[in-house]
Amino acid sequence: MSESRRLLEAASRVIPGGVNSPVRAFRAVGGSPPFIARAEGARLVDVDGRSYLDFVGSWGPLILGHAAPAVVEAVTEAARRGTSYGAPTPLEVEMAEVVTAAYPSMEMVRLVSSGTEAAMSAIRVARGATGRDVLVKFDGCYHGHADSLLVKAGSGGATFGVPDSKGVPAALAELTLTVAFNDLDGVRDLFRRKGDSIAAVIVEPVAGNMGVVPPAPGFLEGLREVTRAHGALLIFDEVITGFRVAYGGAQERYGVQADLTCLGKIIGGGLPVGAYGGRRAIMSEVSPLGGVYQAGTLSGNPLAVAAGLAAIRALADRRAYARLETLGALLEQGLRDGAQKAGVPLTVNRVGSMLTAFFCATPVTDYATARKADTARYARFFSAMLERGIYLAPSQFEAAFVSLAHAEADLALAARAAAESLSTVA
Ligand SMILES: *Cc1c(COP(=O)(O)O)cnc(C)c1O
Repeated sequence: MSESRRLLEAASRVIPGGVNSPVRAFRAVGGSPPFIARAEGARLVDVDGRSYLDFVGSWGPLILGHAAPAVVEAVTEAARRGTSYGAPTPLEVEMAEVVTAAYPSMEMVRLVSSGTEAAMSAIRVARGATGRDVLVKFDGCYHGHADSLLVKAGSGGATFGVPDSKGVPAALAELTLTVAFNDLDGVRDLFRRKGDSIAAVIVEPVAGNMGVVPPAPGFLEGLREVTRAHGALLIFDEVITGFRVAYGGAQERYGVQADLTCLGKIIGGGLPVGAYGGRRAIMSEVSPLGGVYQAGTLSGNPLAVAAGLAAIRALADRRAYARLETLGALLEQGLRDGAQKAGVPLTVNRVGSMLTAFFCATPVTDYATARKADTARYARFFSAMLERGIYLAPSQFEAAFVSLAHAEADLALAARAAAESLSTVA
């Protein structure tokens, strides 16, 4: 038995499903996950000594690749000065200055320890600032696992949300209304009917958690307009897109400013960090200035902030994004060519360095169209790629990420593996 198999068995006795986050269990694709021993650059090495070219990147944070020297040095140096103080530090100020400079809509920012916390806190601020309770989210968008956000569409479209998890009270889920991503008319209709009670619309400006789905032209602008007209706040959950689709995130790329923004993933450089922020007047609602309570023992943790700052500094050279675009385009082209040769219907959605290849012939513009993808075929493709040493997300409905540690040769390798794997699933 492989060491990974042995570890999974041991883990399964003491950890639910043997994993600390469900998708890692490979349930959507079958098989069992390699346990990772170490990683460097674009490569992972498992406990059995197998090496993989990684397109998961820890689900988004590792835009510089694994064990980037600048990040490792920053963390090591910070650790020598102590791992946590529960008191303010100079690095936090620098992080807040860097973030507010990159995101003009964020005049003030609060650091937390995860994307979940960032989104949960942002909606609390939105509710506190507006005095309203209702939240609008989009079907298939993920904002972490806070109760109000683990909600899916009820029957009959644009209606009261229903819990998407056991343990979420129906009474709370009812305060979250869901609309299809890119359905601006649906949002407008909802505001016509319930505009007075809506505190905020929360959206992934480029959806990444139903697979990558870009915003339709005018969608983000329309959200900006309709929320403003009704006195509701627009929350961009840029936990994936922040410092990913541009240095200034989707707000910079699409030229639309949010009222509140959530960040995470990249700003922690691979350590646990999240952040939320917005205009001074809104963020002045946050304790100790205002009445919206939010706190954290490890918030602004010196190791995590040091790692995040090192990562962001490397991205401040804007050529980084041209490079990511080139690499992303190569991955896209490799998949398209392979699919065409194999005669496999494939819809590739890509924004910069984030991409999803959906196993369907029709365009993917929202969750309903994403669900048309052939997940069984994806599972076979995933396994064929893994056998060839290419590590993709173990689910059809996730993004692939390229990093600055990927080289042209890596993309060529991935393209060859994709061509072979696609022909095996044709
Ligand atoms: C990953 C993610 C989150 C949750 O972040 P965690 O750090 O996993 O809690 C929230 N929103 C989006 C868009 C994400 O991709």
